[in-house]
Amino acid sequence: PFGTIADLIHFHAEARPSHPALVQDERVVSYAELDALMDRVAASLQRDGVAARDAIAICAGSSIEYAALFLGALRAGVAVAPLAPSSTAASLALMIGDCEAKLLFLDAASAETLAPAMNEVRATIVRLDGSASPGWNDWLAAPGARPQAVDIQLDWIFNIIYSSGTTGTPKGITQPHSMRWMHVRRGTMNGYGPDAVTVVSTPLYSNTTLVSFFPTVALGGTAVLMAKFDAGAWLALAEKHRATHAMLVPVQYQRLMAYPDFDRHDLSSFRMKFCTSAPFSAVLKADILKRWPGGLIEYYGMTEGGGTCILEAHNHPDKLHTVGKPAPEHDIRLIDEAGREAAPGEIGEVVGHSGAMMSGYYRQPEKTAEAEWHSPEGKRFIRTGDMGRFDAEGFLTLLDRKKDMIISGGFNIYPSDLEVVLRQHPDVADASVVGVPSEAWGETPVAWVVKRGGSGLSEAALLDWFNAQVGKTQRLSALRFIDSLPRSAIGKVLKRELRDRYGDEVR
Ligand code: ATP
Ligand code: MG
Repeated sequence: PFGTIADLIHFHAEARPSHPALVQDERVVSYAELDALMDRVAASLQRDGVAARDAIAICAGSSIEYAALFLGALRAGVAVAPLAPSSTAASLALMIGDCEAKLLFLDAASAETLAPAMNEVRATIVRLDGSASPGWNDWLAAPGARPQAVDIQLDWIFNIIYSSGTTGTPKGITQPHSMRWMHVRRGTMNGYGPDAVTVVSTPLYSNTTLVSFFPTVALGGTAVLMAKFDAGAWLALAEKHRATHAMLVPVQYQRLMAYPDFDRHDLSSFRMKFCTSAPFSAVLKADILKRWPGGLIEYYGMTEGGGTCILEAHNHPDKLHTVGKPAPEHDIRLIDEAGREAAPGEIGEVVGHSGAMMSGYYRQPEKTAEAEWHSPEGKRFIRTGDMGRFDAEGFLTLLDRKKDMIISGGFNIYPSDLEVVLRQHPDVADASVVGVPSEAWGETPVAWVVKRGGSGLSEAALLDWFNAQVGKTQRLSALRFIDSLPRSAIGKVLKRELRDRYGDEVR
């Protein structure tokens, strides 16, 4: 056996038994307690006939039970499928069936969501919250229970994450143990260790969260769980626990930096903050560097792995408009429409290779093949679907997702270029540009704009202002105000929804 993250937790339990591993509200679970709880979870899974390499599914908000279950399953070599509670009943049933989950762990809210599709679910249900039976305590083996040791291999599936569906039907992304190990190795470079305290305020089903949660506990630190993000409560929590690390998505940074009391909080304990998952504005990064102690790292990457770039913003204040350079252990290239490597300085689709990529989309070999690109020397790369360009120093600037790119009258328009211009208007708080079908141009750009509070600006005036700023080919055909942009649970703008909402208005 190579040892797993679960073995590291056992190591910390022996070295510092009473050191806090998990904290939520007033509850504190020490490393010794977590290690014992993981044993009970692993033993319970084995008792129920869940074998190594089988899967279980969890659909719930973040909690100590959730975290212990994930880690305990890991000890038994069981793959975990953490599902998004914001999914519909039908897609939850689909995912539970797809990974052939033997057991399904739900909290009260998810049980209610799933109710309409319950007859399609084969898995045995355990209620994590204990408000229905069998509950967590009924299920859990008695204190002191010990599982049989499992000889876990690096290429075994650690977890199956269903893609957020920003681009279509859910696909099960299988992440092997080797991928999580890579994140732990990276964690050692970013100041994680026994004295690290991470505020975990994004949901545990998301890879964004897991890339910071696992290094925290694998390296003996403390994870402070927050089930629902709120800017004021987050700042109070970070201050109270003297947090050293946090992983937040751009929209959360936006809310924190705009929070009226931000500058009155003592955040001097911070060593490193991380951001990933969606475009992160250079202005926002600069503001964080100025007003929030400690370093700032942006990751660009995908759940599938392979294409990770790292921007150490504190070390490269002149590169804030980029997503940084390829991570160590990563080979990142750009390819053109024909699947050839793009010439230096050209725009192309980002593809990435690393020692730790997804094994594939679970039981979907055709979809997996579509997501791959093979280099002339025969290396397997994962296609990101994102367009990008390297500068002379090797920093990657991200344009847009390929499918969001607008081809209008034969010209390529990158929505992000237009969004940057819109946000320069003093009355614009946020903006998103999408392409809609047009008889004259094939496709044409239209914008959804969130106005700053109290502004008397009209849609027509902003449209005229914008169209006077840009070249003829980039002009918007229409512009509408909206109260807020629709976002996924992890804060990604749902462009598909914005396109649909324009309906037939523009044609
Ligand atoms: P789906 O594949 O179902 O559409 P998704 O691609 O949103 O979902 P993830 O794998 O979580 O699911 O997200 C990866 C994508 O998120 C990247 O391909 C990229 O478009 C975007 N992304 C990630 N990090 C950044 C970043 N730092 N800046 C801009 N975009 C980012
Ligand atoms: Mg994706």
